[in-house]
Amino acid sequence: MRRAFIAGNWKMNLTQSTATELTNGLVAKLDDNTSVDVAICPSFGFLSGVAAELASSHISLGAQNLYPAEAGAYTGELNAEMLLDLGCEYVILGHSERRHLPDIAESNGFINLKMKSAIAAGLKPILCVGELLDEREAGQTTAVVEEQLANSLADITTEQVDVVTIAYEPVWAIGTGKVATPDQAEAAHANIREWLRIRFNDLVADTTRIQYGGSVKPENARELLSQPNIDGALVGGAALSVDSFMGIIENA
Ligand code: PEP
Repeated sequence: MRRAFIAGNWKMNLTQSTATELTNGLVAKLDDNTSVDVAICPSFGFLSGVAAELASSHISLGAQNLYPAEAGAYTGELNAEMLLDLGCEYVILGHSERRHLPDIAESNGFINLKMKSAIAAGLKPILCVGELLDEREAGQTTAVVEEQLANSLADITTEQVDVVTIAYEPVWAIGTGKVATPDQAEAAHANIREWLRIRFNDLVADTTRIQYGGSVKPENARELLSQPNIDGALVGGAALSVDSFMGIIENA
């Protein structure tokens, strides 16, 4: 049985004081006996403040990116050891905004280096994959997702993949208010699970958590999260309010 996992991606939002307010609100409302794993992923600048607020809570901390190198001449970047030192357990890698914003344009090869660096340091990556609208309309969803998985997970061993969560995030559904139907999402998740079975083994396929991401809200969470292969959600906009994020957690 896979435990549900809900992660909030705050993206480049909030201020130090609103980040603290949101964190405190979540800590106060999350039931200590929850059966759901919960993580929040603030901007780099808010990590240490949020980590302090989370100290005695059941909410984990995640980052939104890392740079795959030892300390050195990489102005503006943070590496996996720094994120661990700041209290992170998770790191989001391969988010569609980092893959598709033209000035960022991360490749699968670079994401693969980040995956290896995160795993080697002891961070748990949330690897995002998903197709553009054109690709879905051209019937390429499975091929695109499988290529992202194959290249982002290149050389990762069966033992190492144990700490990886996959987030299926159709790009056309992120921040647009357009949600994949439960059937569309379930079909993509089932394919990802079968891909994991072939690339790794049955245990990896049956235990890896696959989150859905793309305009998840309290109102659509229950139906999405009740699909057999959807084990949680990566939440953007709705993670910026205590009520909506808690509403999703309560539906998980
Ligand atoms: C995301 O940021 O990964 C995301 C899914 O955003 P939203 O929930 O706003 O679509």
